[in-house]
Amino acid sequence: MNVQGSNFIAVERWSGKALFSEWEVTQAGAVEVRDPATNEVIASVGLGGAADIARAAAEARQAQRAWAKMLPTARAAILSKAADLLEQNGAELIPWIIRESGSIQPKAGIEIEHGALFIRHAANLAIQPMGLMLSGFDDRTNYAKRVPHGVVGVISPFNFPLVLSVRAIAAALAVGNAVVHKPDPRTPISGGIILARIFEEAGLPKGVLQIVPGGAEAGEALCSDPNIAMVSFTGSARGGSKVGELCGKHLKRVQLELGGKNALVVLDDADLDVAASNAAWGAFLHQGQICMATGLVLAHENIVDGLTERLVAKAAHLPAGDPSTGQVALGPIISDNQVETIQAIVDDAVAKGAKLLAGGTHDGRFYAATVLSDVKPGMRAFEEEIFGPVACIVSFSSDAEAIELANMSEYGLAAGVLSQSVGRAMALGEELHVGQLHINDQTVNGGPFAPFGGRGKSGNGTRIGGPADLEEFTQWMWISVKDEATAYPF
Ligand code: NAD
Repeated sequence: MNVQGSNFIAVERWSGKALFSEWEVTQAGAVEVRDPATNEVIASVGLGGAADIARAAAEARQAQRAWAKMLPTARAAILSKAADLLEQNGAELIPWIIRESGSIQPKAGIEIEHGALFIRHAANLAIQPMGLMLSGFDDRTNYAKRVPHGVVGVISPFNFPLVLSVRAIAAALAVGNAVVHKPDPRTPISGGIILARIFEEAGLPKGVLQIVPGGAEAGEALCSDPNIAMVSFTGSARGGSKVGELCGKHLKRVQLELGGKNALVVLDDADLDVAASNAAWGAFLHQGQICMATGLVLAHENIVDGLTERLVAKAAHLPAGDPSTGQVALGPIISDNQVETIQAIVDDAVAKGAKLLAGGTHDGRFYAATVLSDVKPGMRAFEEEIFGPVACIVSFSSDAEAIELANMSEYGLAAGVLSQSVGRAMALGEELHVGQLHINDQTVNGGPFAPFGGRGKSGNGTRIGGPADLEEFTQWMWISVKDEATAYPF
């Protein structure tokens, strides 16, 4: 597929292959990449198994030392060039993201824009101060410097494949790590090949970034491999739990960025038209397949009817269809299995007394924007991350009850509070058990400047982005220097 007539992507370089120090076929064979809207095969890439991961990790370790020794300004220059290339080739790359991940055009555009921002943030990280002078207890010189871990294994999901891969890859590379990246085999192009191409053209030394698409087996091999020092995982709590277990067993540092059931609290003084639009964006963007998606709309009882009416009207006017052939608001759900899961959660809610006010049906993988009201604890729709376009409305009668309802979730990723009183919204918001809080905005927010992550089942307390990256992707090394060695009593 050569979408725009330009050929930056250069399919012939990588078709059927993975990126080791060179593009090569994998031992585990190749995997077809399909458009989730049409099921059409759009490309084929190498699929990694345990042997392929072992090879990539060994080659990355070889390449890492020279990369870490390279001047920080030189590493920063390569990263900046990669960001330029991503932006310059956006028009060619966006259709690949649309077709591979079922993204609507604006969401695919955000992947390019934010992807470049994350790389530029990493370029800046490369040239930050990397150490401290320490005061010791004798006259020697003591200092501590931040050193790379070695080889970082990155595992990313299908939903925002480019951004969620590059946010870890670029930060890890910036501070001198090599990377073995395993994108989801359903989105290896947006989550891997595009990144391989920009770093290749930007002059990244061979071997420093290895990209091997694969499934759980390849991911587990990464967590067990002796050449991998750290694993940065973004995905489900179930996958993250397994990754954490393996990394614990093999004594690796592990960063877990997991799912969410994110509450948007709408107080009784909020503007209801604005609140409905916030709820629709938070619940329906990318078909709800976002970790920060608005999973619960908590509405004060005085305004719940007005908000519900407006949200239902919005849902009814959001068309679902193939984003590569028409102007749609919602594209396809990633798989038939996931459609079944969404339907089962909606059916469970209705069976337990929730009201289905919009959607609740699908045409193949195109799930309609859905609104459920009267959602309550005990329903799957209240408790589970749906990863589908379902707005779940829950009413509350006091700010204290809103806090209690929001904090019932085992997850703790993001929350939003809408109110014309910033003071009241902040007082409520600061009681929420989350890693990110948005006053007067819905829950889907992110950017390279922010330390992104969650509490509870949303992660293991790590953060990615902004001021967190130096802490996550390097470790301290203490160095003491005496002018000359001196004798001890022994
Ligand atoms: P998933 O856990 O099934 O897969 C994510 C990645 O992990 C894929 O590359 C997959 O191949 C790999 N994987 C799966 N099992 C593994 C195992 N046992 N060992 C090693 N690797 C394994 O997740 P998914 O359903 O594809 O993605 C959606 C989930 O990701 C949702 O829960 C969503 O909330 C979460 N997510 C979190 C963030 C965040 O930053 N917190 C961002 C996006 C998505």
